[in-house]
Amino acid sequence: TAAGAVSADSVDSLGANFPLCMQHLHAQLLKDHHLRHGGRMQLGLFLKGIGLSLQEALVYWRRAFNSMTDDQFQKGYAYNIRHNYGMEGRRADYAPYSCHRIIMTNPPGPGDHHGCPFRHFAPERLRAALHQDSLADPDVREIADLAAAGHYQVACTRHLEAKLRRRPSIQGQEAPSAPVTSPNQFFDLCTGSVVS
Ligand code: SF4
Repeated sequence: TAAGAVSADSVDSLGANFPLCMQHLHAQLLKDHHLRHGGRMQLGLFLKGIGLSLQEALVYWRRAFNSMTDDQFQKGYAYNIRHNYGMEGRRADYAPYSCHRIIMTNPPGPGDHHGCPFRHFAPERLRAALHQDSLADPDVREIADLAAAGHYQVACTRHLEAKLRRRPSIQGQEAPSAPVTSPNQFFDLCTGSVVS
């Protein structure tokens, strides 16, 4: 997706197309008006990947972190956002995280919301999150079983397929032929912006 394709105003309305990891981070951000570092990195680079420009990212995160002063935001958080866009420090243009990285490294601790729900949620919590996303019982059971067996990305791909089946607007779109490899690929497939 091209930078600038997504504005700060439109992020929240796109949330229904996010994979479960990003739905969870997004919901927690809206609820707590804050995310810890691991969550800010995982969600921030994902949003960059779907087309949120640096300028729009600064607007989005400032609004979301609405319980702190401008000074606190500028000192504690704006640098990090600019850094993610290659405007500070080593000026590397950081890429969104892959599923492999999210699943295999930096597991979430207490109070963290980053990670992969298929890998890091307890079974009950995973089933509740899938129900919350309006999945039918048989889908929830199948997906939870796949996750329990360690097939995290396959479980996530089934989640995507279940979402696509409910969408008349993009019915007929091909289901992914292989497990999703990144949250951004999930989003692109879910919004119909690429064909797998
Ligand atoms: Fe996110 Fe990948 Fe896990 Fe799906 S498999 S929830 S896209 S990390």
